[in-house]
Amino acid sequence: MHGWTGRILDIDLSTMTVRTGELSRELAIAFLGGRGLNSKALFDRVSPGTDPLSPENVYCIAPGPLSGTILGMTSRMEVSTLSPYSGILGDGNAGERFATVMKRARADQIIITGRAPKPCYLLVTPENAELHDASHLWGKGAWETTDLLLARHGQKASVACIGQAGENLVRFASTIVDKYASAARGSGAVLGSKNLKAVVVVGNHTVSLADPETFRELAALDREFFARDEFQRNVAAKYGSHHGMSDWRPGFRNYTKYLEPGEVPPQLRPEAWKKYEIGRTGCGNCSVRCKNVYEIPDGPRKGEHGEALEYESIFCMGTNCGVCDPVAIMEMSNLGDIYGLDVIPLGNTIALAKDLFARGILTREQTGGLDLSWENAADQIELVHLTALREGFGNILAEGMLSMGKILGPEAMQYCYHVKGLSRGPYPAGLFALAHATSTRGADHLRGRSWAYGENDPDLYPWLQASGTMHADMDDPVQAVILSERVCTLADSVGRCKGAVNSWANALPLAFKHPLFEGLARLLSAATGETFSEKSLVDAADRIYTLEKAFNARRGITSAHDSIPLNPDHHGPEEMEKERARHRDLLRRYYALQGQDTQTGIPTRERMEELGLGSEGSRLHDEGPYPEWTGPPPWPLHAYPHGGQRA
Ligand code: SF4
Repeated sequence: MHGWTGRILDIDLSTMTVRTGELSRELAIAFLGGRGLNSKALFDRVSPGTDPLSPENVYCIAPGPLSGTILGMTSRMEVSTLSPYSGILGDGNAGERFATVMKRARADQIIITGRAPKPCYLLVTPENAELHDASHLWGKGAWETTDLLLARHGQKASVACIGQAGENLVRFASTIVDKYASAARGSGAVLGSKNLKAVVVVGNHTVSLADPETFRELAALDREFFARDEFQRNVAAKYGSHHGMSDWRPGFRNYTKYLEPGEVPPQLRPEAWKKYEIGRTGCGNCSVRCKNVYEIPDGPRKGEHGEALEYESIFCMGTNCGVCDPVAIMEMSNLGDIYGLDVIPLGNTIALAKDLFARGILTREQTGGLDLSWENAADQIELVHLTALREGFGNILAEGMLSMGKILGPEAMQYCYHVKGLSRGPYPAGLFALAHATSTRGADHLRGRSWAYGENDPDLYPWLQASGTMHADMDDPVQAVILSERVCTLADSVGRCKGAVNSWANALPLAFKHPLFEGLARLLSAATGETFSEKSLVDAADRIYTLEKAFNARRGITSAHDSIPLNPDHHGPEEMEKERARHRDLLRRYYALQGQDTQTGIPTRERMEELGLGSEGSRLHDEGPYPEWTGPPPWPLHAYPHGGQRA
């Protein structure tokens, strides 16, 4: 095969067996790679009643067909599983070097199921895949684990592993990739439940290209765009996602409000972070290099370095929790990488706890003496440790925002702003809220939302209209959401980064050279030798998205869950009803355009057949009805493991 390596590794940890399979041409063309291949594997293998933390859950890693090539920004992989945080599809896209090295290790996808009898790690090389004992790594943080594995397998290896949070089944534990990237949605807890500490890849296989000359020419054009583009050079490369602190309206104190540019504390603005910067870095073959390298200047972690402090870390652990101290934010970001915690749900869950504390719904007695006042950074940092180790009140926080809200009662739940368990705050009904509501992994900013208004590429919408890609009517929000979802799906499936500033130009190579998906189609054709077109890519994006919807429908998700959270402090009952009615109108339109039942939001049998998903459509429709989704299946708090080395 060209582009793809043709090899899929299938690991059953319960029997400690590794099976090498072949990627079929049909599957590769239909689902491309990355998120597409993973979503297909999850639909096929995870039955509706599976507990995410049981051996039956499946964990997949897949780079894309463009990963490992000379095309920039393609060292990206998708990690997908049934999320223990939300109880529905959970995937995370991560950078650093792993995707590139995994292709060099000759693998398009690793599928892991079962539970090992004792801690182990997986080593993948071009010739082999084997399981090794990891007892000596258990209890250690992700940074130390990575160093130890690189010392053993060479510095050219790449490591995806878990820290103590994954071992302790913290429901928003991440898989940490090469120390500083995080594959979210609870994938770390799934690895912990499987007793798998790490996946190590190493290899020097070259990805074969069908038409290397054309591919080189197209990749050079793409590179040229980034070298010339003012915004990429002066904003993305210089500030990365910190840029968002002045432009993206970060949440404040559990989304009580979104900060206008003038309201962001000066010490948290993009330029202010330069004070701590000691270098810039980037994933594999990326010329943008959007990530900062920083040094903590004082406090208990003085002198410690960290990388890739994102806008999300600053606002989720900072402003949204009422903390505006940059040093505390850097400390918590590093703790997230060491323990293997996703800082977005960590921050959201702490923000909810602090909100409840301020309202007197959560007391100091319940927190075990922690003072969760908004400005108290020291106790918040302590809570991060306790959460990773599942100690004290941290054991409740480790359940995540939705489950913690339920434990604390109905009064607490009023302030738990979520869509399918994930939070981005209570946006008013409209385009952003619609994109959050329809996202197939719960509310988030990388499924469509960031692109929906076109705020990152202000010239794009007029260009899309002029080229006939978008409706001439700029007020057609539903089309814009669908288009942005397709862009994200394709980027996640071919192995391309969506960029530091979540831009179409990053996500879709050559978007400004050719009609929207044509540049990508040319690149894929040159890489693989197959014929891709605008139409075939739109179909692939819709096929993948529809299958994800179908997966969630089998977990009990219906239109009732494609809802938007509203803040009771800001909306009276009448206003809330108006907001909901406006949202329902948009949703109905969305369902109709997407071939989903306008009442239930579930993909119709006919639409699934049209997309080549006939047998999946039959399974979805013949095996129901499914019990309604209410969140991840709860465990008694005493049933979790706890402890490990304190960072
Ligand atoms: S833009 Fe940033 S996140 Fe994306 S590939 Fe480049 S360095 Fe990685």
